[in-house]
Amino acid sequence: MRFISPEIKNMWSSSQPNDKYDVIIIGAGVHGLSTAYYLARNGINNVAVFDKGYVGGGASARSTAIIRANYLTAEGIPFFRESLKLYEDLSKELSFNILFNQMGRLDLGHSESDIFNLNLRSEFNQALGVESKIISPEEILEIEPKLDLRIGKPHPVIAALYHPPAGTARHDAVVWGYAREASKLGVKIFPFTEVNGFVLSGQRVQGVKTTKGQILADNIVSATAAWSSSVMSLMDITLPISTYPLQAMVTEPLKPILSATISSPKLHAYAYQTDRGEIVIGGPVDPYSTFSQKSTLFMLEELSTFVLELLPCLRDANILRQWTGLCDMTPDYAPVMGFVEGAKGLILNCGWGTWGFKAAPISGKTTAELIMNHKVPDLIKPFSLSRFEDGELVNEKASATAAALH
Ligand SMILES: Cc1cc2nc3c(=O)[nH]c(=O)nc-3n(C[C@H](O)[C@H](O)[C@H](O)COP(=O)(O)OP(=O)(O)OC[C@H]3O[C@@H](n4cnc5c(N)ncnc54)[C@H](O)[C@@H]3O)c2cc1C
Repeated sequence: MRFISPEIKNMWSSSQPNDKYDVIIIGAGVHGLSTAYYLARNGINNVAVFDKGYVGGGASARSTAIIRANYLTAEGIPFFRESLKLYEDLSKELSFNILFNQMGRLDLGHSESDIFNLNLRSEFNQALGVESKIISPEEILEIEPKLDLRIGKPHPVIAALYHPPAGTARHDAVVWGYAREASKLGVKIFPFTEVNGFVLSGQRVQGVKTTKGQILADNIVSATAAWSSSVMSLMDITLPISTYPLQAMVTEPLKPILSATISSPKLHAYAYQTDRGEIVIGGPVDPYSTFSQKSTLFMLEELSTFVLELLPCLRDANILRQWTGLCDMTPDYAPVMGFVEGAKGLILNCGWGTWGFKAAPISGKTTAELIMNHKVPDLIKPFSLSRFEDGELVNEKASATAAALH
């Protein structure tokens, strides 16, 4: 008989929900759970988290889990910098090994316009306290000797933005760590409980209708990522968010050949090697909006072609798995966080697109602060929903991992 310790059986508690909580969080992904954890750590533990599926079963369970802070804008860089700092201590904070590996990151430049963009990022990163610098082809090869610099071919690599503190973590461990600690502190987590309506009184949101009945709360956080637009449509709120599939795949385990995460927006590919030896391969979102999470042969072929441009040594490697998750894409590739005008008590935490895993610690911490202090923290002020009406877009598209195919 297999022995399961009581600790493993009871990672988080689940019972019948109460009639009322201080805070309800819709969505038990990495953002909903980190919000729950930072609330509880600060003494607000009368909190319920509802998910229509299993804990972490949305995009969080499908992430390729790259963590970095080398963004482009004065709004994005400090936000992701603070998140990366929180990741550095997260295993200790959660007493759970999230397997954080700071392997470094190379963003490859293939043209003068690429280098212009990478130079801007390098200068802004340094000015805002993020370690990041331009390196030459010779220096790139010292870090990644297996990389094809494509000398004499189209799109040769002429420089890279090197960001040493970037890394990866085990995505499930981050979800489980937050869920376990939040639960220990008193948060109640209800998987397989769908929110299908809201309780409204004038302009105030008083609670949610769920498959387990109606439950009231003073504050309601929607952390539903790809489903944010449909959840908000239950209240006739339209979000500037479209849902796109993002696919990824891994090879069979290989001996160590890659030491950093590498990315080329021009060749539409990124890759890194896990501790187990598998090469994780990803690229841009699919070229059409849909809620389907079916992986496609088209993307398998595209991603393989893209990555072989950079790593021809992988030509005989077998693909072990391919999978798909959904991404809540905003027009400016930046998140949406904060209060919603005309819906008192409602807080949005969404617009995480292809970049949300790395943001989870700081997004949860700042969302918790917003609820506790009834005031939007400076770090997330630029990410308000109203920016789309005010014309104050953040525009992080140029620092996306792999440019969209459309
Ligand atoms: C293939 C892939 C690779 C990625 N790689 C990276 C990466 O390398 N680095 C990075 O930073 N980001 C990456 N991302 C993005 C990142 O994974 C997401 O942005 C992040 O996980 C979003 O977390 P979340 O908690 O907001 O959403 P989710 O994890 O999607 O959680 C939302 C939850 O809401 C629940 N829900 C929805 N509607 C309802 C309802 N009506 N009632 C109750 N519950 C509901 C869902 O079931 C779901 O569990 C990747 C994404 C994918 C798909």
